[in-house]
Amino acid sequence: MAKIEEYETIVGKGVVHELRLLAERLQGKSVQHVNSTAVGGGVAEILNRMVPLLREIGVDTRWDVIKGGEQFFQVTKKIHNALHGVEEDITPEQWDIFWETGKRNSEELPCAADIVFIHDPQPIALVNQKEARRNKWLWRCHVDISRSQSAVFEPLLDRVKQFDAAVFSAPAFAKRIPVRQFLIAPSLDPLSDKNKELRANEVEEVLGKYGITSEKPIITQVSRFDRLKDPVGVIEAFRKVKRHVDCQLVLAGGSASDDPESVEVLEQVKQFSEGDRDIHILLMPQNDIHINALQRASAVIVQKSLREGFGLTVTEALWKGKPVVASAVGGITVQIKHKYHGLLCHSVDGAALAIRQVLQNPEYANWLGGNGREHVRRNFLVTRHLRDYLLAFLSLYKAEDIIYL
Ligand code: UDP
Repeated sequence: MAKIEEYETIVGKGVVHELRLLAERLQGKSVQHVNSTAVGGGVAEILNRMVPLLREIGVDTRWDVIKGGEQFFQVTKKIHNALHGVEEDITPEQWDIFWETGKRNSEELPCAADIVFIHDPQPIALVNQKEARRNKWLWRCHVDISRSQSAVFEPLLDRVKQFDAAVFSAPAFAKRIPVRQFLIAPSLDPLSDKNKELRANEVEEVLGKYGITSEKPIITQVSRFDRLKDPVGVIEAFRKVKRHVDCQLVLAGGSASDDPESVEVLEQVKQFSEGDRDIHILLMPQNDIHINALQRASAVIVQKSLREGFGLTVTEALWKGKPVVASAVGGITVQIKHKYHGLLCHSVDGAALAIRQVLQNPEYANWLGGNGREHVRRNFLVTRHLRDYLLAFLSLYKAEDIIYL
């Protein structure tokens, strides 16, 4: 794993020096992250890098994952969808499962660090420990809750109010809630296996493993098999593009252990692709180098989500200098200014048109990719994210209200 000094070549010495200074101010304070899955999805992706880096700069940090059965994760998936604004009916029995599992986890998992950092709604019930422990609690919401279903958000809000502060990814995601708020965008790690530079032969090798040719342009969407990522919509767009340009589609995704719907969605996607030899549906184990290589081999990266949190796959594609065609939802709009960092779309037709446009104009595609990479370098690298977290931690011990963008 990359050492903190290695980031100096990308972001400059000053940035790394500042991280060390901030970390020094946190001496004596411990931080505990809690979420619901160790692998799969953007939250785990970030924590896997954030936690070792915090430790390396001297912040005493641990990461715990709550446990839950299938029924618990069925409810949390519904809660996730409802927070994104999708109509979901959660029965009183299902709420009971949610709170009971939360309570059980709280009994089994002591949250004794000075700063407890709860990610998303799944572990939110653990905040019942706060009163007795008198430590600081942050709720990190990775979801765009601006359109959330109020019947689902209200019961959660009772718990959110108990936190010292809530962290959202962007202003548009937040809601008026009676809790201090920080705005902190997610990030990627440029030196991780997912994002580091790869040699051309390494990329070729991975393509070979999956039986994909580099002879035809590759259109790729990397995502968990989730309805909100609209894999079927991606296939529809691909078919429209295919009438004009000979190309192939890669839908690469694993599943997250807290996502029970993925098997069903994958089945639907397989049926919908009807054995088309130019559509590669890759159900992959967590393999960062393979994802990296597929993204690098692509002529266009698509993220046709119907709803999105931040959309780390978009960040990853932009960092690799790829032209990105993505839906104008959630955090994607923070990452892409239309026609400057990539192309935003609102429909299958819009996506198809945009994909054709970049496939048929390599110069334009390169220009978009270059702008996108610079945008990520300035705003969405892990060093910026670390700095924002350190400042947020420090400000928990100060009375004044500071909001970071
Ligand atoms: N990812 C992965 N393998 C997969 C699917 C996704 O490694 O099969 C990674 C992807 O590269 C990204 C993260 O999981 O880093 C997905 O984050 P995003 O914010 O795009 O979506 P989420 O899954 O959190 O909704």
